Amino acid sequence: MTQLRDVLAVDPESFRLDKVDPKGTPGLPDTKAVRKDAKAWSKEAVAAIGSELAAYQEKLFASAKSGQTSRRVLLLLQAMDCGGKDGTVRSVFGGLNPTGIKAVSFGPPTDEEKRQNFLWRVERALPAAGQVGVFNRSHYEDVLVVRVHDLVPENVWSRRYDQINKFEAAQAEDGLTLVKVMLHISPEEQRQRLLDRLDDPAKYWKYNPGDVTERARWDDYQAAYQDALTRCSTVANPWFVVPADRKWYRNWAVATLLRDALASIDPQYPPAGFDVETERQRLSTPDSHGS
Ligand code: AMP
Ligand code: MG
Repeated sequence: MTQLRDVLAVDPESFRLDKVDPKGTPGLPDTKAVRKDAKAWSKEAVAAIGSELAAYQEKLFASAKSGQTSRRVLLLLQAMDCGGKDGTVRSVFGGLNPTGIKAVSFGPPTDEEKRQNFLWRVERALPAAGQVGVFNRSHYEDVLVVRVHDLVPENVWSRRYDQINKFEAAQAEDGLTLVKVMLHISPEEQRQRLLDRLDDPAKYWKYNPGDVTERARWDDYQAAYQDALTRCSTVANPWFVVPADRKWYRNWAVATLLRDALASIDPQYPPAGFDVETERQRLSTPDSHGS
């Protein structure tokens, strides 16, 4: 059976971002329920996947706690402004136990971060053994916004693709399963989402006039994404491009990619580190406590 990951993975040889339809729904099951009401179907499917994720997460956490595994999972989200990163996190992570989750957002580097290598702050933000992490933006900003705005010279950012590949490969060796997702929206969808924010005072806080300035650089960003996606999609750490104009498809696709990543790890509850029968015996005599 074809897995969604095979449908959405970036093939570095042939991938073209401008050929991906942001309204597309690749890999969507063709069933009666989907044909009848795709939105309603997605809501149910995402809830069901959420339960699976929660079960996997608990097992991963338990096996790491008992020292059985150093494995950890990281969902890395990149997108143009209004691409839906926050909404995706809410939808996919909503049902998980916060104890086992590590969510990190990356903004412009602080003065301290600027003095370090660009991967420094990223390494510190990685999930610990047994955790499921999510990055809202990432080290890829260092070959996206940084490249579009010439924040460092070209001979510096152009070497970063290889540095990123080496960094991610080393983390994979160290037990990290990385699920790299670009949420791909159209410029028209971005415009609509910006306008929606202006229509609702409860959304003003999400509106950033700077996003409208960035919009003018759309093509430069797309070119930078094209390079990042193809130069950093490797066998161990592939990129996935998820069409994201339709939120119901996006949520289902990202939840599915994350679920399949955890399924391939197949974490197991650790065996008892004690003799169950002995412990039962020790507890067999009722005592005076609580009586
Ligand atoms: P937001 O995700 O809306 O909170 O915005 C975060 C902002 O931080 C975006 O405009 C990013 O382009 C910017 N940003 C993130 N990482 C970097 C970086 N390494 N260098 C410069 N700007 C960055
Ligand atoms: Mg923003």
